[in-house]
Amino acid sequence: MRYINYIFILLLLSKSQAQVSIQRLMNDVEILSSPEMEGRMAGSEAYDKAAQYCVSVFQENGVKSLQHSSLDGYRQNFNIQSNTVNKCELKITNSQGKFYKLKLGSDYVCRGFTGSGSGTADVVFCGYGQAKDSYNDYRGMDLKGKAVMIFKANPPFTLEDEIWDNFSIRRQVETAKQHGAAAVIFVSRHNEKFQSKPIGSLMHGEGKHNAEIPQFQIDISWADSLLEGTRYPLERLDNLIEDLRMPFSVFTQSKIEYDVQAHYNPQTPTYNIMGVIEGSDPELKSEYIIVGAHLDHVGKIGDLVYPGANDNASGSAAVLELARLISQNRDKLKRSVIFTLFTAEEQGLEGSKFMAQNLPVPKEKIAFVLNLDCIAHGDSIRVGNGKSYPHLWEKVKEIDITKSGKVVDATWGGGGADLTPFHNLEIPGLYFASQFSYTHLHLPTDTPETLNKELYKDMVELIYHAILELE
Ligand SMILES: [Zn+2]
Repeated sequence: MRYINYIFILLLLSKSQAQVSIQRLMNDVEILSSPEMEGRMAGSEAYDKAAQYCVSVFQENGVKSLQHSSLDGYRQNFNIQSNTVNKCELKITNSQGKFYKLKLGSDYVCRGFTGSGSGTADVVFCGYGQAKDSYNDYRGMDLKGKAVMIFKANPPFTLEDEIWDNFSIRRQVETAKQHGAAAVIFVSRHNEKFQSKPIGSLMHGEGKHNAEIPQFQIDISWADSLLEGTRYPLERLDNLIEDLRMPFSVFTQSKIEYDVQAHYNPQTPTYNIMGVIEGSDPELKSEYIIVGAHLDHVGKIGDLVYPGANDNASGSAAVLELARLISQNRDKLKRSVIFTLFTAEEQGLEGSKFMAQNLPVPKEKIAFVLNLDCIAHGDSIRVGNGKSYPHLWEKVKEIDITKSGKVVDATWGGGGADLTPFHNLEIPGLYFASQFSYTHLHLPTDTPETLNKELYKDMVELIYHAILELE
């Protein structure tokens, strides 16, 4: 009898403990980043597939839809701009007459909002692609029918009478087009530490869509190949412009051959997904915690899929796992939790912005937001926005002492990614990400095998306790 009691108590104990399952987490990551999900671009059918899967997990775990004019069941619908890139080919013939067929995804990419076009064009390097009075990379250049190669950045210096506009792919393309360009090739600055690789990206910046101009990003090594025969490798050009604070544009002796087919839709339907698990405290259940992660990623270019396992299948799968855990431990949950999967983060936080403008519950009733973005690659845990909300940050560190102890002692303020639209409304929040998370960011290599399972499990456990214990 005593033995039976003992087993009973053990059962009770194990039932009340949160059991983050790394198998379930990884299984969901595998599903969301599988080839059939085609990189989950907001507005695509593949995004719908991923969203349906998440809704089915909500339904199985008692996550209920909310009542609000912006919601249709679990969906919060709105429209975005989208661009589907069906074909993206690039070949180079350099000054020696050498011919190269570049490899999509590693040697080059098409920008997410590329225009269409095909042909052959001479390549001209035009610095930063600026056409200001006091600094003009295009002055005296005849670029009709040429492919313009420019840095994907603003100049690293300021001029007395000039303030650069916010860097915008679209504006750069528009300026090149006004000077006659047929195609634009972006390249990272040689002297820039990060993102020198061609990445899949849907960021387009301010300005209007240019449907007729193919837009590439190439790896720095290929920029040097294009510049062969000019005596100016990219590093030298980068240094010259920076040192002289003057444009230094160069006609190369290289050509590109390109074929890009894209389809732009200015009004593409997409949606956030959200649902609620009600808290068990009679008073506090009218207060809400939003636990959110962006489900979308950068999609595919032609047949090349960007799996986005860490960015952000990891955060999305964590939202699903947290919904399972919370539904099994509702007695411990005082406040209600709104589980959210944002769309169109990769286009510029479109989903979280829309939700912040269309909150399903009164703003004053939202206790805090936890944003989960890129949480499973790397070696430790970063908790952001602690400078803006020190009491939340301190409490998470306190919880962490009794858990994995993996939270690094550095944070930031001012929101960050999908937390920003909520932060701007003065809703408290924290941002969970793994430290050194961005090795494979927006690369075809962001696959489930690159995730750190032990870290991932510890991360989700920490967030689970944050949901239950933060005040
Ligand atoms: Zn991303």
